[in-house]
Amino acid sequence: MKELLGETESLCPECLARIPASKVIENGDVYLEKGCPDHGNYRVLLWRDASLYRDWGYGEETPGPPRRLSVADQGCPYDCGLCPNHKAETCTVLMEVTHRCDIECPVCFASANESADHEPDLTAIEGMYQTIRQAGGPYPIQLSGGEPTIRDDLPDIVALGKKMGFDHIQINTHGLRLARDREYLQRLKEAGADLIYFQFDGVSDDVYHYTRGAKLYDLKLRAVENCAEVEIAVMLVPTLIPAINDHQVGDIVQFAKRWVPIVKGIHFQPVSYFGRYPKSPGDEDRITIPDVLKALEAQTEGEVKVKDFVPRRRRDSHCGFSGFFVLMEDGKLLSTTSFELRQSCVMGSGCLKESPAQHFRRFISQRGRFVERELERTEPGSWLSFFERAETHYLSISGMHFQDVWTVDLKRLEGCCIHVVTPNKRLVPFCAFYLTSVNGERLHSG
Ligand SMILES: [Zn+2]
Repeated sequence: MKELLGETESLCPECLARIPASKVIENGDVYLEKGCPDHGNYRVLLWRDASLYRDWGYGEETPGPPRRLSVADQGCPYDCGLCPNHKAETCTVLMEVTHRCDIECPVCFASANESADHEPDLTAIEGMYQTIRQAGGPYPIQLSGGEPTIRDDLPDIVALGKKMGFDHIQINTHGLRLARDREYLQRLKEAGADLIYFQFDGVSDDVYHYTRGAKLYDLKLRAVENCAEVEIAVMLVPTLIPAINDHQVGDIVQFAKRWVPIVKGIHFQPVSYFGRYPKSPGDEDRITIPDVLKALEAQTEGEVKVKDFVPRRRRDSHCGFSGFFVLMEDGKLLSTTSFELRQSCVMGSGCLKESPAQHFRRFISQRGRFVERELERTEPGSWLSFFERAETHYLSISGMHFQDVWTVDLKRLEGCCIHVVTPNKRLVPFCAFYLTSVNGERLHSG
C-alpha cells in the first residue's frame, strides 16, 4: 500500500533537469519518487519510519528570509546566490580557502584535489568576508576546503575574520596537521579560532581505512590531545556509512564523554552522495536520521534516547536533529532536551550568533523546569550543583543529513540556511553548491 505524503520538485540525477517529485509512504518508510522524460524513473529512500517523519514535521518553523538577494536568471537551484525563491536567512557560512587536500578520501563532498586552481589570497578572502557582511552578517563562519590546514596562513585568515567582526570562526579539518604540529594549532588558537570541526568517523583504523584511505586513529587521538593541551574546543564530526561505522555510534559517544569539556559535541552526518563516491547508491547505502537516533539509543543502552532529540529549527524539520546533555558526576549523560517539548535550536549553528554564555543562559531558562523535574526524580535538591556542572560539562549530540542529487527536495532546499560564500560575491545553499550529477557534473562551478 502506497500513500502520498506530498508533492515537490527534484532534479534528474543524469541531466540535472528540474522534475516533479512525490514523497510517498510505503511499507512504513518514506520515499521520493520522480521521473525524467529522458532518463526514466527514480525511487529513493528518504527516511525510515514514516510515523517519526510525521511527528517531526509538526510545528515546522521558518527562519526569516535572507536580507539581501541576488538576481537569478535560471532560478533555483541553478543560480541561487541567494535567489528570490530562497526562504531562509543564513545561519552558518562555509568559506572554502583551498581546494587542495593532503589525503585522498574515497568519500569527499568537496571533490578536493580535482580543481586545485582555486586558492583565494587574503584580499579575495577579505572580499568574501565583506560579501557575508553585506548579506546581513556577521554570521558564524566555517573555514573549509579541501583541507584548510594545508595553508600556512590559515591563522591570518582567522585573524582577519575576527578583525572584521566575525565572532565565531571554526575550522573544518581532518586534523592531521593539528596532531603533528602543535605550534600551528597554538597559532590558530591565538588568532581566535573558536572551534575545531573535526572529522572523526570512528574509534578504529578499519573505519578510517575505508572512509579516508588511511589508518588514522592514532593521529585523530593525538589531535584531540593537542586541542586539550592548547585549550581549543572540538566538535567531533562523524560521516556515517552503513556497515562501515554505524556500529560505532555508541563508541563515539563514549569517546566524546572521556574528552568533555574540550569536546563540546558530536555532529553526525549520514553519508550523502555528492562529490567523490564510488558508485550510485541503493537504499542499503543510506542511513537516515531515525536510523542514527535508534542506533544512539541501542548502542548507549538507553543512556541517550530517541525521545531526547528534537528537530533542528529549519523550514523543513527533517534536515537534522539536536540533543543537549549534561555529563553528570556518575559519568552518565542527562538529557536537557525532549521531543515532547518540541524545543529546537539547541547549540545549533543558528544559535552560534550568541556567545556560549548567552546561549547557555537562554537555554537553561527555557528548559529549567524540565531539567528540574528530571533531576528531582533522580537526585532531589541537586538543582544548584547541576547548574554549575552544566556550565562546563555538557555534550551536544546533533546531526544533519545533506541532500544529494537523488534525495534533493527543492522545497526543502529553499529553506537551507547553511550557505557557501563564493569569490564572485554569492551565497549558495550548501546542498546546491556541492550537488553533482551521476556523471560528476556539478550544479555550481564553485
Ligand atoms: Zn534527465
